[in-house]
Amino acid sequence: MILLIVAVVPGFWYGSRLALNTQYPALAVASGSMHMPPGTPCNGWSHPFARTLHVGDLIIVQGVNASDIHAAPYPDGDIIVFHDLYRDELIVHRAIEKKVQNGVIYFVTKGDGNSIADPQIPADRVIGKVILRIPWVGHIALIMRNSSGIYLIIALIAILIIIELIIPVFSSKKPESESQKNSDEASEPKASGPQSAKPPLDVSLFFFQHAP
Ligand SMILES: [Zn+2]
Repeated sequence: MILLIVAVVPGFWYGSRLALNTQYPALAVASGSMHMPPGTPCNGWSHPFARTLHVGDLIIVQGVNASDIHAAPYPDGDIIVFHDLYRDELIVHRAIEKKVQNGVIYFVTKGDGNSIADPQIPADRVIGKVILRIPWVGHIALIMRNSSGIYLIIALIAILIIIELIIPVFSSKKPESESQKNSDEASEPKASGPQSAKPPLDVSLFFFQHAP
């Protein structure tokens, strides 16, 4: 059994939560239950233009009314994100059938690559529908989530430290040569050298604002 687990991209766009009317505007696809054709493994890198989802896709989700969700078999039905009935997980599968029982809307969902449909879910478990799929980008979130993510973070920090050390070296060269030119023309010393150099862009600060 393959369940499609999705991971929340850390600290992603607080504004888009409002714009897209959902708590989960951006998610990363973590398993291959939507992969086509059925029964073939999803490596997460091929099929960038397929009309379904693959591991490592970043999906943009919009909160919509259940009545606005179009349910139909592959490939026409909307792909929806919902709370799993039995586990504390989010699932993203296609809505293949819509039913109304005692005034409550229910959806039957199915992974495009699964042979059987999921048990039906009431509309109040639905978070929204997938309005955009960006191949590959979600791999970043998936890597961060597992244990090897820590090495990626360490590597990024190392790169940022190197950038911070290198940028001042380069940016301080220009003012020095300019001040040398100036000293030939005017005796009044101007502030020069590294102190007058433009402070390097604080890349690390920018980065960590968006980190978890
Ligand atoms: Zn795939």
